[in-house]
Amino acid sequence: MKSFLPGSSIGILGGGQLGRMIALEARRMGYRTIVLDPAPGSPAAQVADRHIRAPVDDAQAALKLARHSDVVTLEWELIPAEILKKIEAEKPLHPSSRVLAIIQDRLIQKEFLKKNGFPQASYAAVDDSASLQDAAAEIGFPCILKRRGQGYDGKGQALIENEASLGRAKELLKTPCVLEAKVRFQIEVSVILARGQDGRVAVYPVAENAHRDGVLYTTRAPARISNEVQERAELLAIAVADSLNHVGVMAVEMFLLESGELLVNEVAPRPHNSGHFTLGACATSQFEQHLRAVSGLPLSDTTLLAPALMLNLLGDLWRDGEPRWDKLLRIPNLKLHLYGKAKPAPGRKMGHILLLGPDADRSLAAAEEILAEQKAPAERI
Ligand code: AMP
Repeated sequence: MKSFLPGSSIGILGGGQLGRMIALEARRMGYRTIVLDPAPGSPAAQVADRHIRAPVDDAQAALKLARHSDVVTLEWELIPAEILKKIEAEKPLHPSSRVLAIIQDRLIQKEFLKKNGFPQASYAAVDDSASLQDAAAEIGFPCILKRRGQGYDGKGQALIENEASLGRAKELLKTPCVLEAKVRFQIEVSVILARGQDGRVAVYPVAENAHRDGVLYTTRAPARISNEVQERAELLAIAVADSLNHVGVMAVEMFLLESGELLVNEVAPRPHNSGHFTLGACATSQFEQHLRAVSGLPLSDTTLLAPALMLNLLGDLWRDGEPRWDKLLRIPNLKLHLYGKAKPAPGRKMGHILLLGPDADRSLAAAEEILAEQKAPAERI
């Protein structure tokens, strides 16, 4: 196992907020960072040592990134397999092309999880209207049709409530899909962990997630679950990471059913939005932990230092102009994270706030009230 000490260069595929937070932690630790991303002032490029301005599927640019890096990682997993293979031929890549090939395609991911005995909602592959009819008859209503590739934040998905709404899925069926039973869950949780090159694992306390319109709205840590569920969720996530032989941070999103059963929803082989609380609320952030893992260094303490609530700030808040940060920053124990995105757009993740301590719930209510005032007048009615 080769380790890359501070001073080494970390290549990052993708220039979004995850890349930015990886690069900021890398800089603090004395690493150099190179980002590959097409946008001139992307969130990660603003804070990296070097920016190669090209799309992540540009083979020449990806090779250039690899040649100037000691180790390569990513913040966006939907990178073509042939590019990943090229990078891997040059430099260590974590997560590996093998892990990414499994994760990138929802169906392959589900088949892998099934083969390894992990519980999931029932599903079926769907390619056209006829196979959708058959799958819906087998799975039942309500169900959710999801694109196999290129889907995130609830994009590329359609809820199908009954037979009559099957037609609604037509647009999605232009590409291969998976039909999934819509699960009635008690809560959604995620486990963030880091797995080193030696197979050692550091797990964060289970986080509780609330979504709105398919996009993460809040994350709460610790989750309001029993110790027994906490333990089962952690063991499940570790088993998933082990089965993939993953190196780096991984998020395993799960549904907790009324029965107490845990189902795996989705696996992300990188730092995750529901792990943002670790930066500020835990002894070591998920971003530092990721850097340690991909660099072959020991993993560190995952202790949650205070109860935490994370609230995503979406572009909708900018409809009246720049939000009143001065008002928000009056809330005690509030940390503001903005990603440096120039153009706010509805649903676009622009930043997040972290609220710490026993009064985090009250602080969240105060923050939501202030943020509600930011919405366009018509929406306030
Ligand atoms: P995904 O991008 O697949 O994680 O979906 C985004 C969100 O949609 C999830 O976090 C859930 O809140 C909801 N969702 C997705 N799949 C299902 C399902 N099979 N049953 C119930 N809710 C789901």
